Amino acid sequence: MTEYTVRTSRSDQMINITHIVREEVRKSNINDGIAIVFVPHTTAGVTINENADPDVVDDILSGLRKAFPENGGYKHIEGNSHAHIKASLMGSSCTVIIENGQLQLGTWQGIYFCEFDGPRTRRVYIKVIGN
Ligand code: ZN
Repeated sequence: MTEYTVRTSRSDQMINITHIVREEVRKSNINDGIAIVFVPHTTAGVTINENADPDVVDDILSGLRKAFPENGGYKHIEGNSHAHIKASLMGSSCTVIIENGQLQLGTWQGIYFCEFDGPRTRRVYIKVIGN
């Protein structure tokens, strides 16, 4: 497993980490297998979505903000339930198939680290499995 540090600069933010995962696959010399990306946090997550138009990730963030406002009358004393909910929706891991040494992402797909309670210094674990 490799651990990466991601420093976020906003309260909510999606950061393309596809190049980091690709580099990890390259270093592994694994041709056929899977790459697992795991985020060990409760107010951050990871998802796969469009890498071409940056407006898409902005729209995802703004849609989540509207659906789960910061002052949503939640019970959690820490006051960041909006971030916990968004993190659970995006999920804490994603898996991508590796074939012929390449991540089998669609042309328009990128892997995004999702910050929902930043700015913070975060961790991402990447594990490449196969042969
Ligand atoms: Zn909390």
